[in-house]
Amino acid sequence: MNIGDSILAMLKSEISENEYKRYIKQLHFSTAESRSNSAVFIAPNPLIANWIKTKYADKIAHLYEVKTGTKPSVYIKVKGTEKEERRKSVVPVISSTEKAASSLLNPSHTFENFVVGGSNQFAFASAKSVSEKQGEIYNPLFIYGGVGLGKTHLMQAVGNVLQQHGKSVIYTSIEQFVNDFTRHLRNQTMDRFKDKYRKCDALLIDDVQFLSNKNQTQEEFFHTFETLRNEGKQIILTADKHPKQIAGLEERLKSRFEWGLVADIQPPELETKIAIIKKKCEINRVLLDNEVINYIATIISNNAREIEGILSKLHAYSQLMHVDITIEFVKNVLKEQLTEQRENINIEQIMTTVAKDLNVKPSEIRSKNRSRNIVYSRRIAIFLAREHTPMSMPQLAQYFGMKDHTAISHTMKKIHQLLKDDEDFKVKIEELSNKITASPVS
Ligand code: ADP
Ligand code: MG
Repeated sequence: MNIGDSILAMLKSEISENEYKRYIKQLHFSTAESRSNSAVFIAPNPLIANWIKTKYADKIAHLYEVKTGTKPSVYIKVKGTEKEERRKSVVPVISSTEKAASSLLNPSHTFENFVVGGSNQFAFASAKSVSEKQGEIYNPLFIYGGVGLGKTHLMQAVGNVLQQHGKSVIYTSIEQFVNDFTRHLRNQTMDRFKDKYRKCDALLIDDVQFLSNKNQTQEEFFHTFETLRNEGKQIILTADKHPKQIAGLEERLKSRFEWGLVADIQPPELETKIAIIKKKCEINRVLLDNEVINYIATIISNNAREIEGILSKLHAYSQLMHVDITIEFVKNVLKEQLTEQRENINIEQIMTTVAKDLNVKPSEIRSKNRSRNIVYSRRIAIFLAREHTPMSMPQLAQYFGMKDHTAISHTMKKIHQLLKDDEDFKVKIEELSNKITASPVS
């Protein structure tokens, strides 16, 4: 028995029969690709790979250490077509190495797999034009926005197109770039460093905000940038903020980052989130009801990265338990991820959530103000309070400064009418209701 198989056998005794059969048994150790400090396993599909990655990778690494004395990086590779094999679709799974993603492009980060909505259409269109006319129009292309909004995906989508056209593309995180630089400097092999980064057709650098205060690397990066740009090679950069806002960055870099096109990505609207979930379901071949998809869209935060984790978790559990994925089921499975708050929802929480979402002040909601937006917010708050707290009608009347319980009862009637007639109102109520019972998964 090879080392990998004996580790899996050890794991067998630690988990249930069912889990073993469903997941671990499907895993194959790759003797050819494993080294003393890395263990490579092959899973039959991305979902199983993901599941094993979140649930068992640490354990596998630990058992390795127990057995051999060294703790390897564990990789779960998805078994695929030959083409994919050549692209080395290895997923690094140990958390510490995860950040320093490999310099390979993720083949599923394509334009086709990217959902376009109001929040990202400008960045999408910019990336698309760069992929069609590289080096000519927007150089550099600078994409910025919050975590999990699709910056890396878009940047790599361009990279994938260019690569298909036979161009040499380097994709790297800024951390990797800094590490590479330091290593070559130490080994006195800067010629090789320069060759590598200045001879490519396109340079894609992720998360450049981390260049902040790294003066020596900034200097080197500046020259790399100049060389590539002068030769008409495409540069694409991402960051979590606008170049102007990156502290500790040389002025000359800041200004150059703005020379081409700066495109931002905003948090997705609800419809875009729904469309992203649908897309991810399609890619991962997970079947979900629209109702369930809508529910998931309302409980996740704006970070689309959560979606894949949630889908593989749901899929894995439903397979394990042989049940369909219903909203109840989703709630159950994601229970640990939802905050404890749901236990004792109080009126203040509802007020904060509603006020924040609708951009009004809690004090306005409780006032006698009759302006449209306030009345709208007040109705929603009253409905949610009635739904989620044990407050009685007289208590609610007092809280919202109304005459007596009949006023609340009147408002409730009105709300129920709106829920029937006004789709937008209904969606808003659902969205906020889910937010309150299930604070964002994070
Ligand atoms: P960022 O680099 O902005 O932190 P990523 O590009 O890594 O975010 O995106 C996180 C995950 O969300 C990826 O799996 C990506 O495919 C997915 N994602 C984000 N936005 C979209 C979108 N508009 N359409 C499809 N998938 C998306
Ligand atoms: Mg990213």
